Amino acid sequence: AKPNLAHLSIPRIADAGWNVSVVTQNIDDLHERAGSSSVIHLHGSLMDVKCFGCHRPAELSPDQLAVPPAGQMIEPPRCTRCNGRLRPGVVWFRENLPEGAWRSAARLVEACDLLISVGTSGVVMPAAGIPDMALAAGATVIHVNLEDVGMDGADEIMLIGPAGVVLPALLQAAGIAAFSPPDDST
Ligand SMILES: [Zn+2]
Repeated sequence: AKPNLAHLSIPRIADAGWNVSVVTQNIDDLHERAGSSSVIHLHGSLMDVKCFGCHRPAELSPDQLAVPPAGQMIEPPRCTRCNGRLRPGVVWFRENLPEGAWRSAARLVEACDLLISVGTSGVVMPAAGIPDMALAAGATVIHVNLEDVGMDGADEIMLIGPAGVVLPALLQAAGIAAFSPPDDST
């Protein structure tokens, strides 16, 4: 997968002089690869490894990263500290969000002037409460979604359409220079 036009739009807003942070439920690194420097992963990251047993972060050696032949089941690598099984550092269904990530996100949301909520169904709590947190703190909220997510306040704006179309259009309307097309050479 490669960053799409929505991912690529965000660092352009920062380039235009705004203080931009990304709070995402995505576990991929597409925002980082698009050039965003301040990214909080509420649901962890596939690039991280942690231990089932002691819950500490772990590193994999290059041979542990080798992909097994298709169809072959392998034992998860073991933690060097407690011998527990290692797993992806992401939040699975029914697990709690990483506390530090949530606290950092909440601090940013409560201090922001503008929150752009992109492509979220607004169902999975507590992330679904982020737009309301921003509104309560006096920010304006722009929802970008494929369908109308419903709004109650005068400080909310609904933009319906794919994020890869709406965000570039929003940048253009805000007078922020369009980005160059994604570099396909890498
Ligand atoms: Zn361990």
